[in-house]
Amino acid sequence: MKFKWLLLSTVISLFLITEVSDTPRPPEGEIRRFFKVETFFRGSDQEVEVYRLFGREEGPTVLIFAGIHGDESGGHLAADRYIGLRLEKGNLIIVPRLNLYAILTGKRTGLSGRDMNRKFHSSDENRDPDDKVVSLAKSLMDEADVILNLHQGHGCYFPSWIDRNRNPVRWGQCKVIDISIFDLPDGRRLELERVAREVARKANATIEDKRYHFHVNNTDTLSQRSVHREQRQSLTFFALARKHKMAFGIEATKSCPLPQSISYLTMAVNAMLERTGIEAAAFPSASPVEIEKDLRRNEAFSGLRVRINGVEKLVSPKSEILLAPGDRFQVLSVEAEHTRGWYPSVSRSPFYNGMGKTFSVSRGDQLILHKYGKKVAVFPFSVKETNSPQIETSI
Ligand SMILES: [Zn+2]
Repeated sequence: MKFKWLLLSTVISLFLITEVSDTPRPPEGEIRRFFKVETFFRGSDQEVEVYRLFGREEGPTVLIFAGIHGDESGGHLAADRYIGLRLEKGNLIIVPRLNLYAILTGKRTGLSGRDMNRKFHSSDENRDPDDKVVSLAKSLMDEADVILNLHQGHGCYFPSWIDRNRNPVRWGQCKVIDISIFDLPDGRRLELERVAREVARKANATIEDKRYHFHVNNTDTLSQRSVHREQRQSLTFFALARKHKMAFGIEATKSCPLPQSISYLTMAVNAMLERTGIEAAAFPSASPVEIEKDLRRNEAFSGLRVRINGVEKLVSPKSEILLAPGDRFQVLSVEAEHTRGWYPSVSRSPFYNGMGKTFSVSRGDQLILHKYGKKVAVFPFSVKETNSPQIETSI
């Protein structure tokens, strides 16, 4: 009976990566109405999860992208905190890990070796492995009224030169817009600067240290004189110029502890959602202390559910994994309260997202467990002829 139940829960966990066990949820029967997740490129190092949250009342839709640059973990960690929200009005589409390969390798660039935020121009589709992810991002834009892209940068943007860490070429602590007002062919005007200033003012009201206040960084992308002409290939410029959507880059500084940086992004996103007319029972807390606790709690796990030669087994944290040469090894799931963002991989394997994949492990290999992009555990493999009898149906 117990085995059957565990097998069933494993099957459920393989198909439903929608669990949000750490936040209040609508009653079971209403989940489909209020919450939906789709997984694209499933099982690959470029897996993209798209979460849709629907409010009880009609309202605007905000699309939040994060993780386009894998070395800016504050962005994807902040975006992930919105997934459990109970919306009263309006809708959210959240893509917390747009560029999973970059996150799992801790790099700015994706699988193509190129910066994904320089690939949003029309004539470069399906030439490299990142283009399908870019195409997906472009198609999601059609569903949204406002589009945000979360980042982290070194130092703090300031409109004039203060010092080497606070000046016009730094990116931290700013709302990035491509133009002050964008005129649409139908006569509507997208007043990006006005909205960005209002949102910055609102977020700054809760930031005591003025050195970390948000400023509006207008890259003046279309101008011949722009010092940021590279932004013509960015996600937000595409959303504005091609999809005619209000689009903002939101940058927090990297020059502070990670929970503080996530806190700044949370303040900025909350202010933007409120300004847009999204209502929720509660927005995520911007307290760095709470965020640090959440991060630690989210990394906690009690074991790995694995399959060795077709037999399931639970591996405890900090234990060795005993195998015989030629054994077939799979990680099925991670036993954890916070179920999102676990990525096991076998060292020397070409895959970073090894969940569900079958490996033939060699002596000296290790199983590395990542939570989002952070290495949280390493399990050594002990590969010996004598290990075979120790593999039991221990569940
Ligand atoms: Zn970035």
